[in-house]
Amino acid sequence: MRALRIHEHGDTRVLCLEDLPLPQAGPGQVRIKVVWAALNHLDLWVRCGVPGHRFPLPLTPGCDFSGVVDQPGVGAEQWTAGTRVTVAPGFSCGGCRACGSGQHNLCRRYGIYGETCDGGNAEYAVVDAANLIEVPAAFTLESAAAFPLTYLTAWHMLVTRCAVRPGDRVLVHAAGSGVSVAAVQIARLHGAEVMVTAGSDAKVAMGLDNGAALGVNYRDQDWTEAARDWSGRAGLDIIVDHVGADTLPQGVWALAKGGRIVTCGVTSGAQMEIPFAPVFFKSLSILGSTMGGLGEMKHVSELVFSGKLSPVIDSRFPWAEVADAHRRMEERSSFGKILLQIDPSQA
Ligand SMILES: [Zn+2]
Repeated sequence: MRALRIHEHGDTRVLCLEDLPLPQAGPGQVRIKVVWAALNHLDLWVRCGVPGHRFPLPLTPGCDFSGVVDQPGVGAEQWTAGTRVTVAPGFSCGGCRACGSGQHNLCRRYGIYGETCDGGNAEYAVVDAANLIEVPAAFTLESAAAFPLTYLTAWHMLVTRCAVRPGDRVLVHAAGSGVSVAAVQIARLHGAEVMVTAGSDAKVAMGLDNGAALGVNYRDQDWTEAARDWSGRAGLDIIVDHVGADTLPQGVWALAKGGRIVTCGVTSGAQMEIPFAPVFFKSLSILGSTMGGLGEMKHVSELVFSGKLSPVIDSRFPWAEVADAHRRMEERSSFGKILLQIDPSQA
């Protein structure tokens, strides 16, 4: 089979399409024929490398992918060939206390396809049967590849970590990112009011289309002042921040009493000085968040399949143009998900 392989970290030239032996599904696993894959920021980290972190190279990237069941392993025969599926991107031991309480993302053996082991940028991928989510006939496989990681991440941040409530004023940074698109929709679904920040007027406009009540181009306007005006000087209840050093310290000042900042990443840098006086005198919470549990994933999937949440697709690339797809993600010009078509013979 053909697979995208990364043997060393670097620019897009390290993305190699190669022939590999067909992988076999072990006990409790299922081999799927991949039809669509979606890019995430994680794919860039895997390709470029992260200081202090060792990826198991060579590696097939891809944490979001959909397709059809090709071969079930022993004990997974209920997944018959041809069933249309998408994949929960995180896997865990299934037997520890964290897994037993549904908090799979807190398992010490938690991993992500395409990061910890081979993922879905390949004609075939082997995954745990527990990670399969059947896709209804009326739902496209391309949209089914476009939501798992980002919607799970955003759900866990807003619902599980921040307990978002009706009437909350929520600020979501970087409106065009996949997690942010999902976060705006999930906050709105819970009756919250949302403002977004973005680096261009076009992305601000798309953020408004996605459900935000206010959008700020942070290149032209101070978002902390805009947030203060928007919240009637009371401050924000929740800030969804995966930008980090450039935004998180000011966020502490922009929060209302009892407010929460939740972070799932730091694309602008991890080292920062945070003023802690407002943290205690306003009873703030600074919360970390990574992925979520399988139950959350399945709940989010039902909301997506029923149309209550709607993945936004930025662009589609044939698999052979994966380098162009990575460059589009790096340029930060995208709004929503960048898709790779692995198997053009299927919808
Ligand atoms: Zn576990």
